[in-house]
Amino acid sequence: MTRRELLIGAGAGALSVLLVSCTPEPKPTPTSTRTPTPLPTTMVPPPAASMRSAWATDPFSRGAVSYTRIGVQSATRETLAEPVEGRVYFAGEATDADNPGTMRGAIHSGASAAMRLRATVEAGERIAVIGAGLAGAAVAADLADLDIEVTVLEARDRVGGRLHSQLDDDWPLPVQLGGWLIGADDDTDLGETVDLTTALWRSPEGAIEPTGNAPLETAIAAAQALPADVALAEALVETGADPEEPGLAALLAYLATSSGADADQLSAWFPPALPQSAFRGAVGDLGAFIEELLGDAQLTLSSPVSRIAYDDSGVSLRLGTGESTSFDRVVVTVPLGVLQRDGIEFAPPLPFPHRGAVNALGMGHIETIWLRYDEPFWDTEATIWHAVGGDHAVRTWINLLPVTGENLLVGIVGGDDAVEFAELKEQDALLSALRSLEAFVPSDATG
Ligand SMILES: Cc1cc2nc3c(=O)[nH]c(=O)nc-3n(C[C@H](O)[C@H](O)[C@H](O)COP(=O)(O)OP(=O)(O)OC[C@H]3O[C@@H](n4cnc5c(N)ncnc54)[C@H](O)[C@@H]3O)c2cc1C
Repeated sequence: MTRRELLIGAGAGALSVLLVSCTPEPKPTPTSTRTPTPLPTTMVPPPAASMRSAWATDPFSRGAVSYTRIGVQSATRETLAEPVEGRVYFAGEATDADNPGTMRGAIHSGASAAMRLRATVEAGERIAVIGAGLAGAAVAADLADLDIEVTVLEARDRVGGRLHSQLDDDWPLPVQLGGWLIGADDDTDLGETVDLTTALWRSPEGAIEPTGNAPLETAIAAAQALPADVALAEALVETGADPEEPGLAALLAYLATSSGADADQLSAWFPPALPQSAFRGAVGDLGAFIEELLGDAQLTLSSPVSRIAYDDSGVSLRLGTGESTSFDRVVVTVPLGVLQRDGIEFAPPLPFPHRGAVNALGMGHIETIWLRYDEPFWDTEATIWHAVGGDHAVRTWINLLPVTGENLLVGIVGGDDAVEFAELKEQDALLSALRSLEAFVPSDATG
């Protein structure tokens, strides 16, 4: 029995039952699409099935990951994490200054918020956590041993937030539509993982030598000596690099698949983590991992919070149903994109430093497309592919065949290309993805 069935079926408290039954289903996002229709206009064979994400239009994320804009201090994230009047706490990847935009940062932010709460809460208190993503689950896990009542309110009809393992009988593995990759030496426990360690950089003319991170490191070091912050793209140009050069352009596209932003949007003073050459990829159901973290916390799904009123005596939350419910304190873990779009009203409004931080940080974009083949058309054992040259939207691919035995390719696109890719109609998005794979069709297959 799943956690949700347990709540509805066994009645885990009047509040849960009431909310689940009264709240209209939110739009099912991200939208998954399957497209077995043949596409004749590319030399890459059509897949047996495809599925893609739509985080850009998701009302409960409004983008993929936060990034640090030009001129913004990384300490801005610490400002956002400051509790307000000891009643409203914040967590989520955007509040973590060390590993923003990552699963690691989300978990760490939840642990930090829980630590702050521990210093304040008294036995018997009722704490609300808004959002059942990694940060919210980490808060619940870290408060589990206290004599308090923790209620997690989640807008979607599932847990996980920007982790989304889509389970489907047509697919041999959970399709990871959100975060699933961690650094090779990252000790975050995401259940079963596979090693993705071999890269292939390929242009239409064949394999090429990777550019490597050296131009980025040189540009960042030079920019960090300047009196004012500049864009990473500007820093590259100033140090003699050409962001349009195909090898560097492919590297920057790769960077955008993790930062969510393009080089002309990113701060050179506080750049994102630079591209890595090796990863581990989670191949299990990350929803189950989140449920385990949530433990015995009371969870109510399909319950978007629309307003948070707070004062000396506690907090009152208004839900999508129009109903209000009271708690002693609240931890807000909703994505930065939701805060930026006024997805939740605060009464009184948040202090200026918090509002300033929300508006100063950027919300970037990442989308993914999974392709399943009956037979592989490729013959390389490399697991991380980079399409060099051309103006393809999807330039980064993960080949899961060597490490799982399944004919699966995963395309990842970030930055403005991700926004455009998300806007494409299903057939156009698939065609665009397939065209970017042309360099990986063996030459004997293309004649
Ligand atoms: C396509 C994609 C690929 C990524 N790839 C990687 C990767 O490979 N490696 C990596 O480390 N990171 C990756 N990330 C980032 C990583 O997924 C996130 O940093 C992390 O999952 C964020 O967790 P969180 O708890 O901060 O936020 P979320 O997971 O977004 O959780 C917030 C929760 O709040 C809920 N919510 C929103 N509004 C309301 C409301 N009004 N009321 C109630 N609930 C609400 C949301 O539904 C959500 O469940 C990726 C993200 C995306 C989108």
